[in-house]
Amino acid sequence: MLPGMTTAVEIARDVRSATRSAREVVDRSLARARAASHLNIFITLDEAGARAAAERLDARIAAGEDLGPLAGVPVVVKDNILTAGLLTTAGSEALARFVPPVDATVVERLRAAGAIVIGKSNLDEFGMGSSNENSAFGPVRNPWNLGRVPGGSSGGSAAAVAAGVVPLALGTDTGGSVRQPAAFCGVLGFKPTYGTLSRYGVIAFASSLDQVGVLARSNGDLALAMSVMAGADPRDATSLPEAPECAFAGTNLAGLRVGIVRELSGDGNSPAMRDALARTVADLETLGATVVDADLPYARHGVATYYLVATAEASSNLSRFDGMVYSARHGESSLGQAQVMTESRGRSLGREVKRRVLMGTYALSAGYYDAYYGKALRVRRLIADDFDRAFESADVLLSPTTPETAFPLGSRRDDPLAMYLGDVDTCLASLAGLPAISVPAGLSPDELPCGVQFIAPPMRDARLLGVAAALERQSGRTSPPPFGMDLS
Ligand code: GLN
Repeated sequence: MLPGMTTAVEIARDVRSATRSAREVVDRSLARARAASHLNIFITLDEAGARAAAERLDARIAAGEDLGPLAGVPVVVKDNILTAGLLTTAGSEALARFVPPVDATVVERLRAAGAIVIGKSNLDEFGMGSSNENSAFGPVRNPWNLGRVPGGSSGGSAAAVAAGVVPLALGTDTGGSVRQPAAFCGVLGFKPTYGTLSRYGVIAFASSLDQVGVLARSNGDLALAMSVMAGADPRDATSLPEAPECAFAGTNLAGLRVGIVRELSGDGNSPAMRDALARTVADLETLGATVVDADLPYARHGVATYYLVATAEASSNLSRFDGMVYSARHGESSLGQAQVMTESRGRSLGREVKRRVLMGTYALSAGYYDAYYGKALRVRRLIADDFDRAFESADVLLSPTTPETAFPLGSRRDDPLAMYLGDVDTCLASLAGLPAISVPAGLSPDELPCGVQFIAPPMRDARLLGVAAALERQSGRTSPPPFGMDLS
């Protein structure tokens, strides 16, 4: 273990028993953040705010108060999740000066449990991307290999956890944005059942798909964070009245039926990813699980369906960023409202965001609605039906998280289709609202992390955490990356 790589569980235990001060923990985390500055993880690093919060916690401990289960745990929050008084940009010029008046519910609950937000992490603009290259604040670098992307859109959160800056980070996952960067950076990434974590205060991209998720290096930390944040929120109409169980459900895999998704496990994957899958299957069998074949016949329509639904919803959600009330305004008011809106959008939204708004508006327009958006909704239903059938003979499904490991920075920037196709494994669970987790599965021959994905039926989130915990124990896969920082 590298210094500073302690878990959230250990930190909270030490801080609550006054073995370590919250201030000490936060100082160490901030020192690592500074040492990792070449990764461009942060849009905002709130050193003063984090130190002040730590001192307040230490004072409360000195006064004999018992703090919450995340006492003194430094966390990073993706910058499309609102933090009261702290800049929240969504990675966009349009919100480059937006300071929210409130915390998102998930942030409020983390803070109430004693967590300390040290900063806001870089992301693809409004969550649109798979490489973190679509950020108005520059790309993030992968801590395992500085020439590679960290994945996206929660690239900063994944890099922060992988580089040992914090044990826990929040991301959002609309079609894979927690799981894919987790896989590329060698950490765990968990997206619970749709409706488990409140989205109040999360900047919307595609509302029927958007979810909050957690990135961590250890399963115990993931479960702890979920236990603090999950649960109904009257401020989010899609929040489930009763949250699924996310605590450890034991790690005995005897009798568990794991279905390998045939459509996602073949030649479309790099040899390194096929090896990672084979290693995982061997580990699962050693642990007593029964590995069977599973079919999702409509999986091959997943990416097309996802990109129709997601862009259609985005075109509606992003219409508010027109320079009138919510976002940066460009152009003299004498030009008139229409021209000011045109100028504001034209100048403050990035290329990929514009591309998506155009695609989504097209898919929703009169005359095309049925052919594109309507059809996508019907295929979405068929994909969900596929899952229902697959879960008749499997308790969880297994696939690679991504068809290949982290790709070189710049290599896909001008090829949106290639970028989109990389979401083939992750978008399915998003379309069906199912819980899914990316688990580290060793390294490729060129020393890049490989991730495998487990998907469970709705509300069976605990099953996923159990499988991930069993694998973690089996192969001790949370080794930190050799990113060559001076950690002294
Ligand atoms: N890569 C996908 C996209 O660009 C997923 C993004 C996300 O989950 N926010 O839409």
